[in-house]
Amino acid sequence: MQFWFTEEQSKGLRISVQVERVVEKRRTPYQEAVVSETSDFGRMLTLDDVIQTTERDEFAYHEMICHVPMCSHPNPDRVLVVGGGDGGAVREVLKHPVQAVDLVEIDEAVISLSKEHLPSISSGLADPRVRVIIGDGIEFVAGSRDAYDVIIVDSTDPVGPAQGLFERGFFERVRRALREGGLFAAQTGSPFYSAELVARVYRDLRSVFPKAGLYLGCVPTYPGGLWVFSIGSVGGEFTSPLPGRVVKGTKYYDEAVHSAAFVLPPFVRRLIDGDR
Ligand code: SAM
Repeated sequence: MQFWFTEEQSKGLRISVQVERVVEKRRTPYQEAVVSETSDFGRMLTLDDVIQTTERDEFAYHEMICHVPMCSHPNPDRVLVVGGGDGGAVREVLKHPVQAVDLVEIDEAVISLSKEHLPSISSGLADPRVRVIIGDGIEFVAGSRDAYDVIIVDSTDPVGPAQGLFERGFFERVRRALREGGLFAAQTGSPFYSAELVARVYRDLRSVFPKAGLYLGCVPTYPGGLWVFSIGSVGGEFTSPLPGRVVKGTKYYDEAVHSAAFVLPPFVRRLIDGDR
C-alpha cells in the first residue's frame, strides 16, 4: 500500500510526497516534529505538517539564504542564525572562514531529531566554532548589540513563535545587533501565496535599513516552488558577490546565480515597486 504525506500549501493547493516510513515523530512543547523516509526526496522534516526540508532539495534553500549575504560582506567573522535547527544554514555558513556562529533555535527537539536522522544537513552543528542556544530568537536578538556581521533568519512561517520574526520591531533589533557593514537575510515566503507578507517585509526593511531588497530561489517542495528571501544592509550593496568571496562546494549558488536572483519577474517587482 502506498502512503502519501499531504501538505495544504495554500487554499486550494496541496502537495503530496510519497512516504516509505515514519522514522520518528515527536510532540514537542512547540509543534509536532516528524522525520519521514520518502520514496523520492530522501528524508524529510515536517513541523505541524508543513515541509521544512528534504534531503533532496534542501541545498537550494540553504545555499541561497546563506551565501547571498555571506558573499556580500567583505569579512563576515561573526554570524547568527535564528531558527534553522536542522543545521543546514549553519553548514553553509561554515563554508566561509568564519570565527564564530551562534544558532538560536526555540525547539531543542528539532536539533536532536536532525542530528540523529538528518546527518548530511546537521553535520555543521558539531563544529567547535558553533554555539547552539536553545531559546527564543526574538529575545536573543533584543539582547545583542553590535555583535554580528551577518544575521540569517531561517524560521518557520509567521505563525506561533515565529510570528514576531517577521515584524518591524524585530528588524529594528536586528539592525542594532549588527556590526558596522552588517547584513541580514530571511526567508519570507512565496510571491504567489504570501504576496502581502513579501510586500510588507520589504516596506519594513526599507524603513529600518539603509539598503533593502529581495531575491528569489527555487525550492521544489515549498509552496509554488519559487521562494522569496529578503535582505537588509547597514553597509554595502548585495546584488552581486564581492570579489573573491564566492566559496566552492555549492550546487545551486554561484556568482551568476547571486546576481540573477535579484532579477524579479514583473509580478514580483510590482509587489515592491511603489516602495522603491
Ligand atoms: N527552511 C525552513 C522553512 O522555510 O520552512 C525552516 C527550517 S527550520 C527547521 C525553522 C525553525 O525555526 C524551526 O525549527 C522552529 O522551531 C524555529 N523557530 C520558530 N520560531 C522561532 C523563534 N522565535 N526563535 C527561534 N527559533 C524559532
